[in-house]
Amino acid sequence: MASDLHTHTSFSDGRLSPEELVAAAKEAKLSYIAITDHDTVDGIRHLYEQGLYPSKTLHIIPGIEFSCEVDEHDVHVLGYDFDIYNQDLVDKVTEISESRWARFSTMMEKLQELGYAITESDVLQIAGTSTSVGRAHVARALVKKGLASSIREAFDKLLEHGQPAYVPHYRISPEEAVALVRGAGGVPVLAHPKLVKDDTIVARMLELDFGGLEVYYPKHDAEDTARYKAMAEQRGLRLTGGSDFHAIPQREPSELGVFTVADELAEPFFHPPQAL
Ligand SMILES: [Zn+2]
Ligand SMILES: [Zn+2]
Repeated sequence: MASDLHTHTSFSDGRLSPEELVAAAKEAKLSYIAITDHDTVDGIRHLYEQGLYPSKTLHIIPGIEFSCEVDEHDVHVLGYDFDIYNQDLVDKVTEISESRWARFSTMMEKLQELGYAITESDVLQIAGTSTSVGRAHVARALVKKGLASSIREAFDKLLEHGQPAYVPHYRISPEEAVALVRGAGGVPVLAHPKLVKDDTIVARMLELDFGGLEVYYPKHDAEDTARYKAMAEQRGLRLTGGSDFHAIPQREPSELGVFTVADELAEPFFHPPQAL
């Protein structure tokens, strides 16, 4: 059996609803799956409230992924196996989501001022249940309306840092993300260290109270994997891994179950939820 500790649903920027993701995980015969939406636990709360989490046939691990920035490098902090109703965590994700809405409105105003015939509702139709409406949704709306030829072009010409419709993010610090996950009883894990693009920053981050490092990741080659495995082992951190599945056709892996990790890596993060 195989497992996946990094997936996204339509509650952030994935395309599948939590129900569809769970069905796909069962279809792929996964043993453990963690749902790690960006800055929200609404997907897993939704499953809980629908009576689909816990599940008898799939081990579901609650997770989250915070987007942080250190010296202009993207540092993503995963959290696992925490109380999804923890008040501090819920308050912080609410604050992040409110600032995202404000950012989204500003982005739309900028696009309209630039003469793009696009409205908030065009984007919201695409965003669906996502509570973190962002640039990816805006880019898709621009393509759908024929205002950009591709998502890449929408980013390159408009939405990327330095382009005219770019609006900066409100971000929490990695220190804050680690403390929030710990405070909610969970295990913080540094995500896809290669995407930080600077191993000295990775090493510096691992001085924080992390419990694991995402060693296994589709964009890590054999050498990266060996290097990060050594970094994790030196520090006594858990090794983790996952596909970062979004169900977006252009983005590898396009299917769940293609990139997996051994169950032994996932098992320590699994605790059947107590009465929530
Ligand atoms: Zn990430
Ligand atoms: Zn991710």
